[in-house]
Amino acid sequence: MTAGTRTLEQLRDVASTCTKCPLAAGRTQVVFGVGDPRAPLLFVGEGPGREEDLAGEPFVGRSGKLLDRLMWEEMGLTRDRCYIANVVKCRPPNNRNPATEEIAACRPYLEEQITLIAPKVVVTLGNFATRLLLDSAEGIRQLRGKAFTFGRGHLVPTYHPAYALRSGGEAVAEMRADFVRAKRLIGTVA
Ligand code: URA
Ligand code: SF4
Repeated sequence: MTAGTRTLEQLRDVASTCTKCPLAAGRTQVVFGVGDPRAPLLFVGEGPGREEDLAGEPFVGRSGKLLDRLMWEEMGLTRDRCYIANVVKCRPPNNRNPATEEIAACRPYLEEQITLIAPKVVVTLGNFATRLLLDSAEGIRQLRGKAFTFGRGHLVPTYHPAYALRSGGEAVAEMRADFVRAKRLIGTVA
C-alpha cells in the first residue's frame, strides 16, 4: 500500500512495526495518535514519555492532564473531539529530546496524519512541533501569541504543557490565550 491511498488506521498499522530510527529499540509500543480522524483541531506534541509508552496513547501523564484541562476550560472540548499526535511516535530513552535524524525519520507519519485529518487548526505544543511544522529556527517564546497560515487553515504555536507546569502561572495564562485564539480560528475556516 502506498502513501496517498491509505486511511489513518492503515497508516497506524504500518507505523506500529516501524524501525526507521533508533527509537524503535527502546519503545514498548508505537504511540501513533488518538482522537477523531475528522477533527477540525489537531494538537502536536513532542514525543511519548514513560506513561504514554506504556499506555499507547499521547499525553496521558501530567502534561496530558493540563492539556485536557485547558482544552476543556478554554475550548469546551474533550480529547475525543480533536486529534492528538506527536513529532516522534516512539519514546526517547530517559525522556531526552528527539534527535534531528529521529525527527526526520518520523516526519512522514506526521505529515500523512495532517494530510488525512486535514484539520482547520493545528496547535503545536512546544519547540519541536512548532519548528518542524513552521520550518523555523525561532523559539517558541518568539513564535507564540501569533497565528500562521497552515494547510487549509491556521497554525497556533503554544508552549509545551510540561514547560507550563515547570514555569507556572504566566505560561499557563499564555497557553489559555493561545487556546482561545485557536478555538476562534476554527470558526473562520470553511
Ligand atoms: N509529551 C509529549 O510531547 N507528548 C506526549 O504524548 C506526552 C508528553
Ligand atoms: Fe519509526 Fe518514528 Fe518510531 Fe522512529 S520514532 S521508529 S521513525 S515510528
